[in-house]
Parts: sequence; C-alpha cells; structure tokens
Amino acid sequence: MGEDTCLIPKCEGKTPLEQALSSPNFRYYEHMRALLCSYLPEVAIELIDRTFFVADFAHKEQKRASGEPYIIHPIAVATVIAQMHLDVESVQAALLHDVVEDTQITAAMLEQEFGPTVNEIVDGVTKLDKLRFHDYKEAQMENFRKMILAMTKDIRVILIKLADRTHNMRTLGALRPDKRVRIAKETLEVFVPIANRLGISDIRAELEELCMASIYPMRYRVLKAAVTRARNNRKEVVSNILEAIKARLKEANIEAKVSGREKRLYSIYRKMVNKELQFREIMDVYGFRIILKDVDSCYRVLGQMHNLFRPRPNGFKDYIAIPKLNGYQSLHTSLVGPHGVPIEIQIRTEMMDQMAARGVAAHWAYKENGSKSVSTASQKNAQSWIKDLIDLQQSAGSSMEFVEDVKTDLFPDSIFVFTPDGMIYNLPQGATPVDFAYALHSEIGNHCVGARVNHRAFPLSRGLESGQSVEIVTSPVATPNAIWLSTVVTSRARSSIRQYLKGLRSQECQLIGRRLLNNALRIKNIETSLSKETIENILTNFKEQDLNSLYTDIAMGNILTVAVAKFLDPHTHNHLELPVKGTGGMPFTFAQCCMPIPGDDIIAHIAQERGVVIHTKSCKNLRQSELGPGKSLNVTWNYAVTSNMDFKAGLQIDIENRQGIVSEISNAVDIAGSRIESINSDLLDEKTFKINLVVSVHDRDHLSSVIKRIKAVPNVLTIYRRK
Ligand code: MN
Repeated sequence: MGEDTCLIPKCEGKTPLEQALSSPNFRYYEHMRALLCSYLPEVAIELIDRTFFVADFAHKEQKRASGEPYIIHPIAVATVIAQMHLDVESVQAALLHDVVEDTQITAAMLEQEFGPTVNEIVDGVTKLDKLRFHDYKEAQMENFRKMILAMTKDIRVILIKLADRTHNMRTLGALRPDKRVRIAKETLEVFVPIANRLGISDIRAELEELCMASIYPMRYRVLKAAVTRARNNRKEVVSNILEAIKARLKEANIEAKVSGREKRLYSIYRKMVNKELQFREIMDVYGFRIILKDVDSCYRVLGQMHNLFRPRPNGFKDYIAIPKLNGYQSLHTSLVGPHGVPIEIQIRTEMMDQMAARGVAAHWAYKENGSKSVSTASQKNAQSWIKDLIDLQQSAGSSMEFVEDVKTDLFPDSIFVFTPDGMIYNLPQGATPVDFAYALHSEIGNHCVGARVNHRAFPLSRGLESGQSVEIVTSPVATPNAIWLSTVVTSRARSSIRQYLKGLRSQECQLIGRRLLNNALRIKNIETSLSKETIENILTNFKEQDLNSLYTDIAMGNILTVAVAKFLDPHTHNHLELPVKGTGGMPFTFAQCCMPIPGDDIIAHIAQERGVVIHTKSCKNLRQSELGPGKSLNVTWNYAVTSNMDFKAGLQIDIENRQGIVSEISNAVDIAGSRIESINSDLLDEKTFKINLVVSVHDRDHLSSVIKRIKAVPNVLTIYRRK
C-alpha cells in the first residue's frame, strides 16, 4: 500500500466544518463540538473538525459491539478529554486513537496530516493497547502500573487511555458477562490506581463505581438503594447546616461557594469493607465543601468554622501546607454540628478544587493566552513541595517536572521494550538490540544481523529506550560478532557471545582479535608497523606467549584494545592542564556514582563503553575484579590545576519536612560559597524526606564546610556524602 498517502480525502475547497457537516455522523460530533467552542479558539476548532472528518472516514466500515457506528467511541473518548479542557492535540489524538490499530490509515499518514505530536500520542496509546494485562499476576500489578507510567513520555497518552477505558466501562453492557468482569477487574487493578496517582479523581471515581457495578452487581444495587434512601432522609439536616455556614460567611463578608458533599458509592463500600464500619456510621457524617478565591481566605474560613461549630480534637488536616503526594491540596476539619451531628468540611481555593478533580490533567488544560506551558499558579497548586525545589533551581516550571516526580520511585535502572506482538521485556539501562535478541533466545542472538526499532533500522550497538518496539532481523548464516562484547550489558548476552567465540576455531578468533587491535592502534598491520622490541614489550606486559594468544584474548574480551593502546602510548598527550595525572593523556570523565573531589584517593577505571572513568578508591561500584591489569590505572590529583576548578559532590540529607526548610538549606550552601547543581527528593515516611543534593566544591575541605553549614539548619536529621 506504499503510495496510499492519498487514502485520506483532501479538502476539495470545502472548509473543515463543511467537510465535517457532510458526514452522516456529524450529529454524534455536534455536542462535543459545542463543548470545544466553549474553551478553544476558532483555529483549534477547525483543526478538530478536520480531525473528526478523517477519523470518521477511517472508521466508516466499523461497528461497535452494540451495533452503533464505531466513531461514537472516539467521539466519546474525546469528549471526556474535552471535559477536562485539555489542549487541541489531546482532543485530536483522542479522536484518532484507534485509527492506526484498526484501519488502513498508517502512522506516517497521520504524521503528515496532523504533525508529529498528535502522531506520537496516538502511537503511545496504540502501544498501551497492546500490553497484555491478563498475563500478569497480582503481585506484579504495582510494578506493572509503574511501568506504564515509566514507558510513557507524554502523560497525555495515559489521559487518553483513561478516557478510553472510561467509555469502554460505560458501555460494558454490550459484552458477555465473563468478559465484563475481566475488564472491570483489570480496570480496578491497573487504571484506577493510575488515575489516583495522577490525582484525576473525577475519572477515578467514575471508574470505581462502574467497576463495582460490574464485579459485584448485587452489592452495588443494594448499596445504591440504601444510599438513595439515606440521602433523602438527610436532606433537611444538610440544608440547615448549609444555611448556617452560608450565613456565617456572609456575616464575615467572605465570598464563597458552599455545597453539600455526598460520599461516592464505592468509597462508602470500601470503608465498610476495610474499616468494618457500619453503613449508618459512614452515612451519619455530613460532608461540606467551601471553595474560595485565595489561600488566605481558606484559613480565615477555617477560623470561622471552628467558631461556628465545635472542632473535634485531632480532627484537622492541613493539606495546603503539606499537599498529598498526588498534589491534592485542601484543609480538612471535623466538627460537631447541631444536635451533635458529625460534620466534615473541606476548604480550598478554586484552583485546588480543579486540581482535586483533574489532577495532572489540569496541566494540559488549554490556557487563554494560548501558551501550552504550565502556568506557575497551577504548578504551585500541583505540588508546592516540588515547586520549592524548582524555584531553587530557577528553572522555568515545565509540566514534565511533575511527571518526573511521579516517576521518582520507578525503575531507574531498567527499561521496558516490546516485541512486535506486544510482549514486554525488562532489560537493564543501556541494553542494546543484541541484549534484547539474546533475551528472546540465544539462537536469535547468535543469528542476529540487524534490528528495527519502531519500524526503523537501528544500530545493533546503540542503547534502547523504554517503550520502543524492537524487531530482530536474523539470518541463518550469521554468527556473533566479537565487537558486540564491548556494547552488550546483560551477562546473558556476554556469556553467550563468549561461549560462541570459544567454540570458534582459534584461527578465526585470532583474525578477529588482530583486526580489533589494528583498528584500535589505527595501523594496518601490527607485525610490520611495530618494532620487534615493542611487540615483545606488549607480550611481556600482558603476560602473553605470542601474538596469536594476545589476539585470542582480545577477541574474547579478556584484554581491552584500549589498554594496549595506552601501554604503547602512555605519555604523548600528558598535558599539564589536566586535573588528574597518570591517565596517559587519554580523555577521562569523573564517575557519577562516587563523584571524586580533590583530596579523595582515586583510581582510573578503563570501562569498555565509557572510556577512562575516575572513581574514588572506596567506590562500591568498582569491584576488585574490575581493577586487574589493563583495566585500571593509578592516578593522582594535579593540585596545581584543581585549585582553580569546581567539582561535583553528592550529598544525602534526611530532613523533617517543614515550610521553608529547602530554601534554608539552599542558603546554607550559598553561604558556604558553594552552588547547588541538582536536587531531588524522596518521601521516606509521612514526615521525613530524603534529599539528594549535588553541590560544586573546590575540594574536601570546602565540602566539609558546606556540610557543616547544612547540618546547622534546624530539622536536618542526618547528612552524609554519597560515594
Ligand atoms: Mn478505544
């Protein structure tokens, strides 16, 4: 179908709207279109009109399980997206989310018609669809959820997936009962926690309720009837309290929206199951919500409420000062109302209320000024704690930072890649297509000649990234290449390649080793280019009997060619201006694990893929086995040079969280004459945070003065250097 780019009909002089109107399915689109007009500018609507037309055209032959035209589904998904006021690209991608998977339209055509971003989002959704959830055991679920987050570069992919699932759950009725229960369980185990994690409580609550109705239809019906009855009985009490609150706010001259808050069915159910509470005990609590213009008013209203009704001891929570991990902010207070009725009041700003309903989705809400970037205000509401850190770094808050935070406890050392049919493989960071091939099967590894990643040719030596789909090209006559040894990272691949090389006739091995060494030394032929004496020296140094055994060891990866090169040419580039002496002029870097600084005992490690890396001698990442001859060099600091330089050092600080502590730590670093290079944080428990800080210092003495300053900040529990 190569030249089928004309598959998508052109505009033919019609406006996008006229084109959309020409579809008999326009009536399904009309309602959403009105919704879009309420918050998007005209240019955006035109784009979406055209997108509707293309999606409708693509799906025109398909029907839903209910027998309705298929386009109803993408429109419903896009409507959920539009209800969250998401940007144009999200709405477009929602309309197109099933197009590539189910129709003749290809990703390339989408990219040409709608641009790379829309295409990438659709691609992400398509990939998520290919995951096989039911292959996973209960225990793997949490990892699985994390993985979905980890492999998604653009969180809009997940928002569309959640919207997709929401509509599928709403229309489950058309399916067989067993299928219904399976999908509902999967939704409850995988998608509800993701929605919760991202703070999108609107979708979470709807999904929970739909799931409950499918999994426990009887309990759902009984509980629903009971709740409706109870709500009717409560009406009078609710309206009395509501009036009392409103009157008090009016008296105090505070503008506010006050509403009664009904507990959701599923949350009542869960409370009954988990806390073993009686239905009556749960329904006996009366909930209210007060929405205000600004944070100041929130605390003022709190005071007013504590004055109007008696607060319960320990019944107050300040999630404004300390937001929940998913960004939720609000004041919660429990009070005793008229006739001893228990009351719960949530007090928050308009913005916090939006965040509570839409969470991370609020970041992609269309902004009036047309900018897609996150406004500082919503960022602040999303995660004031993270914002503290962002302020510190003076970086313009980008929406990715929130997502990065969501990812903090994901897998720093793993990537997830797919086979073309959607099976997931977990590989270490830096894994290449060769590692992947061996992970599939050693025979696939042994015969692999090339790789295609996301349908494009990809070098066998390049590292893969999470979310890529990898296809290995094999040939029956192909054999492993010794050079792979320098790029693979899994022991499985490494040992399989070695195994193969061992089995090779020694002559072939020697040829490979010889070629590798010639390349490394940039000479045509060792025997003729080097003097006899030099060759003797090499053999003695590497304890080899003759050149052939040297070649064999090189081919097997036992001796590194870079070590031979270094041995031959240790001093030519010994520039004085290098901060470390003894690397023989080879370029080097400082290890990220131990971050050596002047004053530390150091050693140079010759890493196959990264060249020469300077570590501290005490670095835990350097195993003794890696320090043998040819793999390490003794080096020292060149203090004449280092005295004018800055070096990075890693600190770990445990703190008791409180307002302002992060900026006090930042000040301490400043005063000590140092600078923060990077900062991130982890929650240890409710009150304790672990901060990973990288600072730049001149040497060990300088670092210890920085540490002393930070230690003096109140509520800093422990501090030590990471090395
Ligand atoms: Mn779908």
